[in-house]
Amino acid sequence: MDSNVVMNGLDVMYQDAECELKSNTPFETLVAVILSAQCTDKRVNMVTQELFKTHNKPEDFASMPIEELEQRIHSCGFYHNKAKSIKSASRDIIDRFGGEVPSNFDDLTSLAGVGRKTANVVLAVAFHGDALAVDTHVLRVSNRLGLVKTENPNVCEDNLKLLFPKEKWSKLHYQMVLFGRYTCKAIKPECENCVFNRECPNSRDLR
Ligand code: SF4
Repeated sequence: MDSNVVMNGLDVMYQDAECELKSNTPFETLVAVILSAQCTDKRVNMVTQELFKTHNKPEDFASMPIEELEQRIHSCGFYHNKAKSIKSASRDIIDRFGGEVPSNFDDLTSLAGVGRKTANVVLAVAFHGDALAVDTHVLRVSNRLGLVKTENPNVCEDNLKLLFPKEKWSKLHYQMVLFGRYTCKAIKPECENCVFNRECPNSRDLR
C-alpha cells in the first residue's frame, strides 16, 4: 500500500497517539519499557506507580536485592529476566554514564539488557528523538498493509524509515501499536471495520 495513504489514515484515527506508559524521567521510561515486554501498558503503569514511589534512580535498583525487585515486578511476567535487565542497566548507567541515561541509540543499546526496540522507545519517549521502534504490532501491521515483507524487526525498521519522513517516525510507532492492538489484531483482525480494507492486500484473505 502507498505509505501516504497509510500515514493519512493513521493520522485520522490516532491524531494524538502517544506512549501509554507513564514515566517522569528518562530512567523511569527505561524501566517501564523493560517491564512492558509481553505485558500490557496498563499493568506496567500499575506496577511502576508503586515501584517508583520508593525506587526510581539507577542507584536504587543497583543496590536493591534482586529477590525484592522480582517480587515487586512479579505481575509483569518474565520477572527474572526483567529484574536482571533493570539491575544490569542500572549498574552500567552508574559505571559508564555517570548515573544518567544516555540519549543516543548506540550508547543505549550498549547497556546490558537494552535491545534495539527498548532503545528506540526510550529515545522517542524520553528524548523526543526520531526513533521508530518495531514491536510485534508494528511488524504485523506493516506486513499486512504491504509496507514491508519481512519477519525481521530490524529490516522492518530500516524499510519503514525509508518510506516515512523522519519527523513522523516516533508517532507512527504509537499509531501502529494502537491500530494493531484494537483493529488489525493478531487473531481475527477487524477488516470489516478497517479504514484500509479497500486497499489492504491482506484484507480479502482475512475476511
Ligand atoms: S484490512 Fe484487515 S488485515 Fe488489512 S490492515 Fe485492516 S484490519 Fe489489518
